[in-house]
Amino acid sequence: MIVAGNWKMFDGPDPRALRAALGDLPHVVAPPYTRLRECVDAGLTTYAQNVHWESEGAFTGEISPPMLQALGVTGAIVGHSERRQFFGETDEGVAKRTRAALAAGLNVIACVGETEAQREAGETEEVLRRQVGVLEAHPNLVIAYEPVWAIGTGKTATPEIAQDAHAFIKSLLDLPVLYGGSVKPDNAAVLLSQPAVDGALVGGASLDIDSFVAICRAGS
Ligand code: PEP
Repeated sequence: MIVAGNWKMFDGPDPRALRAALGDLPHVVAPPYTRLRECVDAGLTTYAQNVHWESEGAFTGEISPPMLQALGVTGAIVGHSERRQFFGETDEGVAKRTRAALAAGLNVIACVGETEAQREAGETEEVLRRQVGVLEAHPNLVIAYEPVWAIGTGKTATPEIAQDAHAFIKSLLDLPVLYGGSVKPDNAAVLLSQPAVDGALVGGASLDIDSFVAICRAGS
């Protein structure tokens, strides 16, 4: 069971205080790049929020697998819906980032999920088939199912919606699948108890130490 916190473009909590509060609880944190080293130094399992497919080059604004590894970062989130929505990430780009990061030895959380319009139009499975279809199974790859309509909106997928989507994703690619979308301490246990839910990717609630620790505890 993996519980990962995506701090997005927020400074987030104090890494040392978070480390102390987590104790032995399994966790992943994905802070902004400026806090990666601090999180690593605090002893947190630290992932980046994105990663490029080349090792170096003229790619302004990007960061490479070896650059992250030099900091002690052990994984990366790839294809988050905010990257897809606001920064033009494509399925092909997500596949290239994922492949390169895995080849370099990083763990990867690859995000997939449908928008509200796609769900209402009955296109959820088609979207998931397309997004998952560009990925290949790997021991260090997990998928995060993040319905876009549930991210940062306070709307959470029902446990049944999450279970169905996760089971569908697993039928495409047999990998662990995390749920993401307004996971909070009060809904974590029921979501995480679904048989096809293998953990959570948490945004807003990971910025607060008590909330994140409570969700990690629900997952442990
Ligand atoms: C996320 O950013 O991956 C996320 C799920 O955000 P939130 O928990 O705030 O909905």
